[in-house]
Amino acid sequence: MEHIENDKQYNGLTVNSGVAQPPVVNPYLKKRRKTPLPTSGELVEGIIKGDITTLSRAVTLVESLSPAHQALAQEVIEKCLPHSGRSRRIGITGVPGAGKSTSIDVFGLHVLKSGGKLAVLAIDPSSERTKGSILGDKTRMEKLSIHPDAFIRPSPSAGSLGGVARKTRETIVLCEAAGFDNIFVETVGVGQSETAVHSMVDFFLLIQLAGTGDELQGIKRGIMEMADGIVINKADGDNIARAQLAQTQFRSALHLFPTPASGWSPEVLTYSGYFELGIPEVWDMIDRYFAFVMKNGYFEQKRAQQARYWMYETIDEQLRNHFYHNPEIEKMLADKEMRVLANLQSSFTAARDVLDTYFDKQ
Ligand code: GDP
Repeated sequence: MEHIENDKQYNGLTVNSGVAQPPVVNPYLKKRRKTPLPTSGELVEGIIKGDITTLSRAVTLVESLSPAHQALAQEVIEKCLPHSGRSRRIGITGVPGAGKSTSIDVFGLHVLKSGGKLAVLAIDPSSERTKGSILGDKTRMEKLSIHPDAFIRPSPSAGSLGGVARKTRETIVLCEAAGFDNIFVETVGVGQSETAVHSMVDFFLLIQLAGTGDELQGIKRGIMEMADGIVINKADGDNIARAQLAQTQFRSALHLFPTPASGWSPEVLTYSGYFELGIPEVWDMIDRYFAFVMKNGYFEQKRAQQARYWMYETIDEQLRNHFYHNPEIEKMLADKEMRVLANLQSSFTAARDVLDTYFDKQ
């Protein structure tokens, strides 16, 4: 069509005819086919060979919410189970800023010096930081992230603590089958995630800081009770004396607790992650712990208890999901909630009505 500005009234101006707008989608582009899911056999074979790409892929399936992925993941886990269990699982906790990433970086390198492979996993259900940000976590552990024998995986993205923790528990199985003989599970020492980590590790390390006045303030008693070792970080420069004072305070506080079921009395050490001071001593403590609990049988006993714990946790989680994701129950709950809030029905009869409806359907 002739352009309107090529009319006489716009003399002195010629507008060339334009080029047709290209289509938004490149017609020459081949339709991308979805890569089919690998079989569980292929995944297991790759994992056992220690192939990191396959391991990552399987972990992604474990983390996926899709029922097809979940079914495949469960098959893979089941087949990996006989190849798992032969690692040292170490939980590491501390408030943000305590120096967890700096310390894991140096602890990790120290462990790898004597060979083997290390996986660093995390449980952080609240965090936006870790939401799919592998890079974020990798840059936090600069040296480990480029180490060929280290595998760093951030926390499964935000969800219920139980769900996030179960995924990490399952990832441990896959990593062990892939030959990782040291597993660190990191968590932020502020909430309930410590309990979840404690229920999947052999040794629980609490990183503390000195120099904040009353050292024991703000530390939940429960977390201290779970610790097999307390380490006071940043014992460097002007901070050494304060770190030693904190060490004395923690030691006397620990005396007030009954001896743990392991029979091992938790130790308190000082170190500096940043200046790499006292690292072999921390590791020596962990080695001694493992030797101790292997000898007295507690190691096996704790693993058995943990396996039972995870069976019940998984049942709880699945029951809850089945109940709350039932469309009829969802509708009924919304209605009952309104009635309870408006004081039209008691909480108890409302709960009973909903449960009766649910169980009638089963
Ligand atoms: P996270 O939040 O627990 O992972 O802690 P980071 O490892 O990110 O450390 C928090 C801050 O403390 C960073 O600025 C580190 O450089 C610093 N830091 C960590 N370890 C030490 C240490 O041993 N000594 C000193 N002086 N600073 C440290």
